[in-house]
Amino acid sequence: MLRSMRYGEADRILHLYTPHRGRTGAIAKGVRRARSRFGGRLEPYFRLHMVLYDGKSDLMTVTSAETVSGHPRLREHAAALDSAARACDAVSRLFATPEPHPGVFALLCNELALLDAQPAMATHANQLAFRLKLLLAAGLAPQLAGCAVCGESDHLTSFSGSAGGVVCSACEASAFPLGREAHAFLTGALASPLADAPSPSEVALRQADRAISETLEHHANVRLRPALPG
Ligand SMILES: [Zn+2]
Repeated sequence: MLRSMRYGEADRILHLYTPHRGRTGAIAKGVRRARSRFGGRLEPYFRLHMVLYDGKSDLMTVTSAETVSGHPRLREHAAALDSAARACDAVSRLFATPEPHPGVFALLCNELALLDAQPAMATHANQLAFRLKLLLAAGLAPQLAGCAVCGESDHLTSFSGSAGGVVCSACEASAFPLGREAHAFLTGALASPLADAPSPSEVALRQADRAISETLEHHANVRLRPALPG
């Protein structure tokens, strides 16, 4: 579950991310009553097995819900909880339609399970690694192996969101400087599991963050919340 909002006297509207129907909305009727049959199961960042009734309205109705994982440890750590919220928000905005992306579902499950198993993983590097993998799933991974304008493989000193990747010193007109460490982070985070993403210096993370943000803005028209609380 990505998000939950109060609705009417006792109901909640849920934003869900599903493996086969992408992002979808559902209403849980009576869930806020003391003796609701859903108990405390319908909370954000829960992984659930749900039965949904697809009626005539825009929202499906929750018929039943079983907890696969409630991620209880994640909830005891402010930074992990915040990272979970940012990860869900990023999925919600970048994959806002019912188009199925089972890989995105699996990636979000991995991220929430990782934050629950190791709340100390809730770092800037982890959030950026997660966003990079979302870009890859959206077909928008930045070009990192050669200049995105001319193909040159040396002197890759800058990054251009509009060109869609790293650029060489001859093509850097609309680009900003991207150091070797930031470049290595982008390449390494895309190539390794979330739990093994590199953790470079804060300077490199800021450059990588800008590269990801500009890629999202130029190619997906999406502006996400900052990857770290400001
Ligand atoms: Zn070039």
